[in-house]
Amino acid sequence: MPGPSAGDGEAPSPGDEPPAAAGQAEQAEQAEQAEQAEQAEQAEQAETTAKPGAGQVQGSQPKTTRRRGKSTGGKARPGKASSPRGPSPKAPSPMMQQYAQAKKDAGDALLFFRMGDFYELFHEDAKIAARVLGITLTARSKGDDAIPMAGFPAKAYENYLQQLIQAGHAVALCDQIEDPKLAKGLVERKVTRIVTAGTLYEDDLLDHRASNYLMVVAPCGERVGLAWLDVSTGSFTVGDVPLERLADEVSRLDPAEVVLPENWLHDDSKLAATLAAVTTAPLVPGPAWTFEPGVAHQTLLEDLGVVTLDGFGLTDDSPAIPAAGAALAYARHTQRGQSVPVNGLAIHSPATGLGLDRATRSCLELLATQRDGRREGSLLSIMDRTRSAMGARLLRQWLVMPLIDPAAITLRQSAVAELLERPSTHNQVTDLLDGIPDMERIATRLLAGRGSPRDLAGLRAALRIVPQLAASLSACASAPLADAGARLTPLPELLQLLERGLAEHPPTSLVDGGVIATGWNETLDELRTLRTNGTAAIARFQAEEAERTGIPSLKVGFNRVFGYYIEITHAQAAQAQIPEHYQRKQTLTSAERYITPDLKELESSILTAEERSRSLEVELFGELRASAAASGDDVRALAAQVARVDVLAGFAAIAKDRGWVRPQVDDGPSIDIFEGRHPVLDVLMDAGVFVPNDVVLDQDSSRLVLITGPNMAGKSTYIRQTALLVLLAQVGSFLPATTARIGVVDRIFTRIGAADDLTGGASTFMVEMTETAAILNNATDRSLVILDEVGRGTSTWDGLSIAWSISEFLYRKIRARTLFATHYHELVELADEFPAVRNVNVSVKEWGEEIVFLHKIVPGGTDRSYGLHVARLAGVPRAVIERAGRILSDLEQRSPDLRPGPKTVAAGAESPEPRQTALFPKPVAAILDELRALDPDLVSPMEALLTLKRFHDRLEGGGGPGPTGVGGSE
Ligand code: ADP
Ligand code: MG
Repeated sequence: MPGPSAGDGEAPSPGDEPPAAAGQAEQAEQAEQAEQAEQAEQAEQAETTAKPGAGQVQGSQPKTTRRRGKSTGGKARPGKASSPRGPSPKAPSPMMQQYAQAKKDAGDALLFFRMGDFYELFHEDAKIAARVLGITLTARSKGDDAIPMAGFPAKAYENYLQQLIQAGHAVALCDQIEDPKLAKGLVERKVTRIVTAGTLYEDDLLDHRASNYLMVVAPCGERVGLAWLDVSTGSFTVGDVPLERLADEVSRLDPAEVVLPENWLHDDSKLAATLAAVTTAPLVPGPAWTFEPGVAHQTLLEDLGVVTLDGFGLTDDSPAIPAAGAALAYARHTQRGQSVPVNGLAIHSPATGLGLDRATRSCLELLATQRDGRREGSLLSIMDRTRSAMGARLLRQWLVMPLIDPAAITLRQSAVAELLERPSTHNQVTDLLDGIPDMERIATRLLAGRGSPRDLAGLRAALRIVPQLAASLSACASAPLADAGARLTPLPELLQLLERGLAEHPPTSLVDGGVIATGWNETLDELRTLRTNGTAAIARFQAEEAERTGIPSLKVGFNRVFGYYIEITHAQAAQAQIPEHYQRKQTLTSAERYITPDLKELESSILTAEERSRSLEVELFGELRASAAASGDDVRALAAQVARVDVLAGFAAIAKDRGWVRPQVDDGPSIDIFEGRHPVLDVLMDAGVFVPNDVVLDQDSSRLVLITGPNMAGKSTYIRQTALLVLLAQVGSFLPATTARIGVVDRIFTRIGAADDLTGGASTFMVEMTETAAILNNATDRSLVILDEVGRGTSTWDGLSIAWSISEFLYRKIRARTLFATHYHELVELADEFPAVRNVNVSVKEWGEEIVFLHKIVPGGTDRSYGLHVARLAGVPRAVIERAGRILSDLEQRSPDLRPGPKTVAAGAESPEPRQTALFPKPVAAILDELRALDPDLVSPMEALLTLKRFHDRLEGGGGPGPTGVGGSE
């Protein structure tokens, strides 16, 4: 695919077909390369002196400090300092001067410098490219003055670009902006675009199923302004959130690149650290002036083409404005001053959606699995039955931002239900969606003045289908489908234009011609005929000349230096009369070559036909593209409808295949799922293997459900399943259950105890507690809280106490509906104290010493943790298990009262007394034990005194010997 400027209708390369022209181009290129080679030495010297140290020229360009990838270009650059050479008296070559200028313009981006058919990188850029791309590092010139250089064919640049972007670099494309053939001396070159991860629009460089956000973060007191822009679709959303929600938003949006004010991006910046912890995207400093409210406001007005922002519901003092303006300014900067065609401006309003923080999203594995971060195995991978790229992107957005308004949810459900009732409509719609290309990104490229012939063909394919899709939906009664059907208004004029103007199978690139349909333009058709007929005309000319001269072996040939010629062997020439108007051009050992004015005329008409037809095609294509671009916004509006229909049809598809049911969604306090299944495991496991389970949660009888049971029984699966089912219901999907009623929740929180966290390293007890604190501070009585082994990350009694008090707090103060899976079977006593605490456990069958997991949730708590059974299952040696069994019963006998519980905790009191025993350090507990075992009636005064002294010593010493020989040891 051609670069942006090439796509813009770069004149067909003269190096292609007509051989004569190719010759010229080659010579021009050679001349230039000779010039380069000749002056390479001076050039390198000049470069060395022009760029002392590692610093890059900054000016107003964002200085990119890219954090992703190991091989960042922003680090100190080796090599320069060790160079022993002094300044050179020689001036840099014009070519290297041009390079230096472009490099300055590119800021910290790696510079792809176009030279003929190649892109070359020099100096440090070349070394980085060689390392990242695995291409050969060569040198311009030799010896001490060698300039490191690496390059590749310009045609293949996208592949190299992609690798460098993925490694966290930005790339500046420096192209030849004039026809080398017409250039006097050095070809003019300019940086035509700075390609960064967040500003891509090329299909080949993007995941078509995911949005690609450039995100801008602008701190403003306690709040932080945010803007996220997808350059490839024009979607543009702004908002502001409290600083502590920043991490959640960034991780929800999963941006490709994050820009923040330059003064906030330094090594000890807390903001930068927060961002680096939640995203792998490069953090890039944006020029401070672009964040100034006045400037930002003006940028917004210009790029949105409005005179006031009121229409978007954005007040002048909104903290979102600096971020929004800086986003557009950064995008403009990468497109060399050209604005990005944004699709309006949406205000982010978190209050309308179901809140999911980062930990919850990751724990529920919505978009990727926790273990390896892959899409397979995530909820998204199971739910994605979409057929179009637009649909896939929208589904992703829906999954991370479910609804909370039962009416809006019911609307989506009605569409899914209708498609299930009308299987033929559903099939038709699915088939039609299958054929629709990514019209959203195509339209955005067209609006940006880009877009290849293939893009126009894609648009045409989409426009052919739109009326059929509208027709299929016309019979539908549910609001979302009927509405989409009505809004899928065809664009007949544009379609007709493309039908008639564009070839049926245009090539990707304009350079090859063949883009415009036959019959669209008379002159073009004539030129094409002339070109095709050229070969025939030459043959005719040859026959005529042979006849006229009486030389049957006379031949017409072609060479790059002087074009068409007549060739006559010396033998023939000696016998025949060579006509006078034959001009001798070349003498070979066996033949003479001539040209004639007639032949030259014929030649020029053939060659011009070729060239004229190409430039005419470029012109005609430009017109077609401009007409299509004029409807760009309409096309994007169509794309939005297609996306909605696609997601809903996908919901219907999975519901149909897997027998999912429509949940009743309302504002009530209860969640009641009968025979629910885990949406992902149910699909991934063999049919019938997954054991369905019921869930009942409500305010009055079942607010806190404690799930106990041995390790591996299915506790985690059960509670996650519940969260996923609630989430899916609020997205508008059907559910894997027999029946379900979901009283909407405002937020879902999930926390996993540190020891249970699979991601390793990342999770410590501190993280566990920080996340738990976030729940306790943010959950409401409408929230759903899922706790998995919270408290596990610390010692048993600590953990149990914390788990206990968290449960109480959630139950009494917050009144959130809570599922708590725990191996602390001691917690079951909570139910004795609180009416709406329910105990369930995952049943296991015991066969002597063996246990079998039934994965079935049954009422009641467990009184044991089966840790030894599990250890045995895992293959721990028998001797160890037996010894552990003896230690366990010893411990249980020795300190039965150490368990927390209502007996020792003033659970019902407003401010419960801290429970004494569990909080005491070990010697105290042991001393208490001894005291308890002591019979005062049997102790002599002396013994009592000695015991008292011993206790005192042990307390002073902090440790001391264990509780041996209580009462009679002395
Ligand atoms: P726990 O949290 O109690 O240690 P998990 O929820 O991690 O147990 O489940 C352990 C394994 O048991 C899961 O990986 C899954 O393979 C299986 N499992 C869990 N629940 C079910 C179920 N309802 N039906 C079938 N298999 C299940
Ligand atoms: Mg578990």
